[in-house]
Amino acid sequence: MRSDCTPRFLASDNTSGICPEALESLLEANRCDDLAYGNDTWTDKVADRFRELFDYDCEVFFVFNGTAANSLALAAMGRSYHSVICHELAHIETDECGGPEFFSNGAKLLTSSGDHGKLTPEGIEQLVIKRSDIHYPKPRVVSLTQATEVGTLYDREELLAIRAMADKYDLRVHMDGARFANACAALELAPAELTWQVGVDALCFSGTKNGLAMGEAILFFNRDLAEDFAWRCKQAGQLASKMRFIAAPWLGLLESGAWLRNAEHANAMARYLAKGLAGLPGVETMFPTQANSVFVSLPTMAVEWLRDRGWTFYTFIGAGGVRFVCSWNTTTELLDALIADVKAVLGAS
Ligand SMILES: *Cc1c(COP(=O)(O)O)cnc(C)c1O
Repeated sequence: MRSDCTPRFLASDNTSGICPEALESLLEANRCDDLAYGNDTWTDKVADRFRELFDYDCEVFFVFNGTAANSLALAAMGRSYHSVICHELAHIETDECGGPEFFSNGAKLLTSSGDHGKLTPEGIEQLVIKRSDIHYPKPRVVSLTQATEVGTLYDREELLAIRAMADKYDLRVHMDGARFANACAALELAPAELTWQVGVDALCFSGTKNGLAMGEAILFFNRDLAEDFAWRCKQAGQLASKMRFIAAPWLGLLESGAWLRNAEHANAMARYLAKGLAGLPGVETMFPTQANSVFVSLPTMAVEWLRDRGWTFYTFIGAGGVRFVCSWNTTTELLDALIADVKAVLGAS
């Protein structure tokens, strides 16, 4: 990042630019014209790369953003009278402006609490058995976010336990993978081990937060759910006519391994920041830093002072508090400057 880039962004991983591998691939795709609406050579190729990466013959689709990916995937996983069980802090519940309900023509989200932003099998069961009459929207889908909205992770055992509960009640499992790469990196597990091998039916895999300009992949491991999905995307205004410019940067991420390196770097930066802030007087760690975000609570005057100093961060995400998110291009210099500012305002040395 240029040193004259101010203000100083730690608000989200989407404040970062395009990573070099993705940009190079984008420029390469611009050298020759190609067919529109996904009939180009890039789109086919990247869909095959996803199948190789996941070691599974899944159906692959591309949309512009994560809200569309989640909303359309969920709409395909149930009917309008069904319900989707998710955590009360889930992005689909708190940050998609009713998109999942809108695109599913009314499927209701049923929320559950749970420590560290995670659903539990018991929480899911409670919502399922609460009612079984015709007046209650029939539970059909469980939606998990990996890594979660508060920067924590579901391990394989937790995912398997949730799948077992889903099997008990014939529920489908959707994964919001806005930070799926960060989860793979942190858990040191292959994409397959965190998805179809633990019974995930559909994954929304974010490229934007990993280093693209835009673009999310929707992977259906349960291929039946992908029936007519292309029409759903088109109707929703999510069929890019120059789809090759979403696909090509993805190819850059996947073929170079940057998707994982970017995530590993972001996670390492978050750990560095968490360590630098831990134990400072007035700083309270809110969640374990398992992926690429750090949640702390700070005195109000410190929050205001940091904002005045040009730091950008959100305070409305998840459970409140200050959220700092690291990304593929976050530097230790930037984090050192933040830690120094936090120490200065809190009078710590
Ligand atoms: C960023 C994010 C999304 C996608 O958001 P868009 O702004 O629609 O791309 C989805 N889920 C989670 C958990 C996110 O953090």
